[in-house]
Amino acid sequence: MFAQVAVNVPSVSGVYSYHIPDSLAGALGPGSLVTVSFGVQTVQGVVLGLAETSPVPKTKPILELLDPLPVLTAPQLELAQYLAESTLSPLASTVGLMLPPGLSQQADTLYEARSSPEIPDPELSPTAGRLLSLLTERGPLRGRQIDRHFHNVDWRRSMQWLVRRGWVVGRSILPPPSVRPKFVRTAQLAVPPEQAEAATPSLGKTEATLERRQAALRFLIREPEAVDVAWVYAESSCNLADLQELAERELILLGETEIWRDPLQKSGQRAQRGIFGGDGAAAEKQLVLTAPQQQAWELILETFHRRERGAVLPILLHGVTGSGKTELYLRAAAETLRRGRQAIVLVPEIALTPQTVQRFLRRFPGQVGLIHSRLSPGERYDTWRRARTGQLKVLIGPRSALFAPLPAVGLIVVDECHDASYYQSEPPFYNGAVAAQEYAALCGAVCLLGSATPSVTQRYAAEHRGLALAELRERIPSHSSGAGELAPVTVVDMREELKGGNRGIFSRLLERELAQVLGRGEQAILFMNRRGTATYVFCRECGHVLKCPRCDTPLTMHVDGPRSRAKARPSPDDGSTSGSRPVDERRPGTSTPDLLCHRCGYSRQMPRKCPECGSEHIREYGLGSERVEAEVHRLFPQARSLRWDHDTTREKDAHDIILAHFSAHRADVLVGTQMLAKGLDLPLVTLVGIVLADAGLNLPDPFAAERAFQTLTQVAGRAGRSALGGRVVLQTFEPESPVIQAAAAQDYAAFYRRELAARRELRYPPFARLARLEFRHADPAAAERAALDLAARLTDRIRTENRAETELIGPVPCFFARVGGIHRWQVVLRGPEPASLLHDLRGLDGWRVETQPLSLL
Ligand code: ADP
Ligand code: ZN
Ligand code: ZN
Repeated sequence: MFAQVAVNVPSVSGVYSYHIPDSLAGALGPGSLVTVSFGVQTVQGVVLGLAETSPVPKTKPILELLDPLPVLTAPQLELAQYLAESTLSPLASTVGLMLPPGLSQQADTLYEARSSPEIPDPELSPTAGRLLSLLTERGPLRGRQIDRHFHNVDWRRSMQWLVRRGWVVGRSILPPPSVRPKFVRTAQLAVPPEQAEAATPSLGKTEATLERRQAALRFLIREPEAVDVAWVYAESSCNLADLQELAERELILLGETEIWRDPLQKSGQRAQRGIFGGDGAAAEKQLVLTAPQQQAWELILETFHRRERGAVLPILLHGVTGSGKTELYLRAAAETLRRGRQAIVLVPEIALTPQTVQRFLRRFPGQVGLIHSRLSPGERYDTWRRARTGQLKVLIGPRSALFAPLPAVGLIVVDECHDASYYQSEPPFYNGAVAAQEYAALCGAVCLLGSATPSVTQRYAAEHRGLALAELRERIPSHSSGAGELAPVTVVDMREELKGGNRGIFSRLLERELAQVLGRGEQAILFMNRRGTATYVFCRECGHVLKCPRCDTPLTMHVDGPRSRAKARPSPDDGSTSGSRPVDERRPGTSTPDLLCHRCGYSRQMPRKCPECGSEHIREYGLGSERVEAEVHRLFPQARSLRWDHDTTREKDAHDIILAHFSAHRADVLVGTQMLAKGLDLPLVTLVGIVLADAGLNLPDPFAAERAFQTLTQVAGRAGRSALGGRVVLQTFEPESPVIQAAAAQDYAAFYRRELAARRELRYPPFARLARLEFRHADPAAAERAALDLAARLTDRIRTENRAETELIGPVPCFFARVGGIHRWQVVLRGPEPASLLHDLRGLDGWRVETQPLSLL
């Protein structure tokens, strides 16, 4: 027998045949985790399938079976293959998504310095010198450990040079898995209680010993089950030697039990105390569905029935915030369990959606597993194993939860299915919301995609038979749930504020509303858009945004001139930088800044006056949450505020702590960024202030309007979630923008109609597909050269393959052109099947290839 094995070697995408030695006959099957030799290395691999014959005459044997149970189910193997093909990634990397970290091991090289005192210094390059001293100081190191000491330096060439000279020895190794099952020692009574009782007088020679052993035995007489020895020690102050003596006399049995590290023990307790929102267990009584919910529920139930007979469409549950979507997820999960299957529930981020998680914990006590980034490798491994045995019935987590090895997946929920966090923005690049639909089909599961603001592509699919559609247009009426109507939104034109002499961050209306909320002892949220701060240029008098005359993309500013154009771009995460300042003051003494189009490369000088109205108040835009918080303190010294942004959430548990504080009303004002847009239910919040809605609107990206609309609508949805009601104040310099108007009216249909027309006209998804290729390099010239070269080859290919409908956009520096000292260039393909153009293209090493990009920044 032969096995086809996907080897876990980065960049190797192939499948290789190995023969199965007699010692492993019958023990292996699809999904088995094994070790094999590959070249000169021993590597891990996953068996994809078995065969009677091998395509090659000579094969090596499988060396070891690492886990007696398959680590991947059959549908998971198919999903890994689908992901590898659709994202143009090596199979090893998509299989790797499904193995818990710690179990999946890549081959590596261990380097050791030979002691050789007389190395002629002048021959050593600086890197080689550093490598040698590192190995001398630290002893032998693995390649991946050395990586951590060399940022963006290609040390491997210098290392090879050292190895050739004989100063360093390298040998290949496969580090052992860093996680393993956890066992505890247990003790249990081995004889009838009377017999044990009868033995108590003769258990020891000294009084102290006798007492300890008697106490231990009496405790075990009272405890019929096997118990952790630690417990026996605590109850009787005996020690291991005492228990061994009792076992020797055959009064008790010592054993070992596999235990689970259960990360939920903590959150379970928290759920019972009901820190968030305060709706205790009582609220989990069965609710009577509203009429729209009932209609959606019938579609869901019917899909469950039809699934048994064949393929079904995923369902888009399009419902405004507070319309009762989560209640339907809960029922669908209950239906799944009733049918003997398991459910996967994807949420944008566990820490940001505590309420959703807790409703599941309450509805399915003891059956829910959580997967999140803060689990230890051991906890993660145990959750993964409990999923594999089917002990966990409902698994909740971010996109990686999709890859838990549940034996019979019957339901996959993708909550807030538009959310960007479902996209993995590192290789292998994949979209978890898309993968969920594919995986549901492979498992024969029902797939529920829920959102108040689905992406244009998702909604378009629902209207063109790619998805089934259920709509919930209204919030659950307040008499039954406490939730009310959507809060009314007032748009404030900041140009008028300026004309009226108000140069502050807050309009007069927002300041007045804040004062009232604080006076009534309620809470307010102030929202800042983190994306796109400090880059685009607009007129504060008339709101005019400077755009590219060639392609209508907003121009972005940088200071050093077009020749070194990649230098002055801000980093993407930098949300708390400068306020709005005149550009010329930014760096006294530098030349006039240039404006650049990131789509076509057009550049021009920064004008001194607004081309529209002649005003000199033409500025780059930028405002951080820190400044907003400072302004709150200046105006309302007595107000207690909390800041929730990138800076304040670096610490472990920071999200939980900030949210718990705010929910418990230990602060009056929460100033935050995008995190606020993710489905929180904060009943005391009666005012949402969107400090500047325009940020993010004017980014050079076809998806910018969609993202801005989603964020604004979601943030507005945080207001008025209780009978107290609420309102939203939206500040903008562009009140006439259709995106702002649609968000203010919370009118998805209006947004969708316009956006779809624009996408059709400009040929963006869903009317075409994109592929984005990005190259990063420390040397800007090298990045530019690589991009020009690839663009030339692609243009060639488009011509020779006669693909007139496929266009090449670029090469241009990325919007985030330099991050952490590394320069980025990109090439974008647009057409019916751009990824197919790349399938067998050579020379893509070092390129980051995205076949379903969520943004072209
Ligand atoms: P969404 O997920 O769309 O934001 P939820 O499911 O959280 O909406 O519902 C909003 C609120 O209404 C919750 O407090 C929920 O408990 C309550 N609710 C949901 N369905 C009903 C119902 N049929 N009757 C009464 N209250 C309901
Ligand atoms: Zn342009
Ligand atoms: Zn102007």
